[in-house]
Amino acid sequence: MSGLYVHIPFCVRKCGYCDFYSVKLGKDTHLLSLFTEKIINEILLKSYLFDKETVETVYFGGGTPSILPVKTLETIFSAIAKNFSLAKTIECTLEINPEHATNEYFKELKAAGFVNRLSTGFQAMDDDGLKYLGRNHSVTDNYRYLDLCRKYGFDNFSVDYIFGYETLTEKEVEKSMNFFCDEKIPHISAYSLGIEDNTPFALKLQKGLIHKMDDEFFLRQFSLIHSILESYGYNHYEISNYSLPGKHSRHNSNYWNFVPYLGFGPSAHSYYDDSRSWNSRRLQEYFFQIGEGRLFEEREILTKTDIYNEKIMLGLRTKKGLKLSEFPKLDYSEFKEYFTVEDGYLKLNLKGWFISDYIISEMFE
Ligand code: SF4
Repeated sequence: MSGLYVHIPFCVRKCGYCDFYSVKLGKDTHLLSLFTEKIINEILLKSYLFDKETVETVYFGGGTPSILPVKTLETIFSAIAKNFSLAKTIECTLEINPEHATNEYFKELKAAGFVNRLSTGFQAMDDDGLKYLGRNHSVTDNYRYLDLCRKYGFDNFSVDYIFGYETLTEKEVEKSMNFFCDEKIPHISAYSLGIEDNTPFALKLQKGLIHKMDDEFFLRQFSLIHSILESYGYNHYEISNYSLPGKHSRHNSNYWNFVPYLGFGPSAHSYYDDSRSWNSRRLQEYFFQIGEGRLFEEREILTKTDIYNEKIMLGLRTKKGLKLSEFPKLDYSEFKEYFTVEDGYLKLNLKGWFISDYIISEMFE
């Protein structure tokens, strides 16, 4: 069992909060054909690493994969299908930005037939929120996206939602969550706004143009999201992820379960044979890396301690939690109020999930 991740590193414009690797495409559309050529080379180059693996999931992420025509995505998928052994029940996810949700795009995608799951960043369900976040779309685009999913029979899709920024009210959070639930959105990822270094938001924060909210504010909004989604029967299966029955992300769940994966494209990471490796983060350097036939920019073999720590980190992110019998030396006495123990599994409670990064790092060896 294994997964493949394809990173499409282009965006129409950069959102103020985003620190994923992507470049603003502008008029350099010739880069798209060069990129496609390189990523296909990379797929050929790496395929032998998984010659004994069956690929269960493929994920086109970014950046903005829907900046590429469906035909180009299909060409990349065909290269994958030719060079890897794909499971019959494969989950193939494509991220589509709401502004790219046109009838033509969905029609072509349905006809191409290789994608059976979609993911998109609605991020907010009010235009003021979208403006604050610097998104390139409107709420009307979000509604059109939903209509198109229904029209073309994409019944497995996910929407991302951002909370915890100063102009977002609890009333708005409640309205958005109720809307998602009434619409029976199969999968919802809810992220608190993080202000990462070297992003336009970090600069705005420095200049006092935006303000960071306190933990109480985040916790109130997170608790509201959680209680509404759970009351509608959503399964909170990972810190930021909620799904209706059978609609969890198989691809992401495999990351949390240590299933090996290969990443293609600039900045993409891979994990196999107890090693982590990654590609160059800059487009030109990535082109150069692949041109030279190098599989990765860097590769590190994980030590026993690395593996132990990763198991703690990934296990505690999930609803299932950590099997205590596998971690006999784990001391969580200092954080007891943030955990519950159920059937021999240690699980973070709601309060704990909210500060999970801190708790988890404190429990590392
Ligand atoms: S959030 Fe998505 S669309 Fe916005 S810059 Fe980041 S990758 Fe691009």
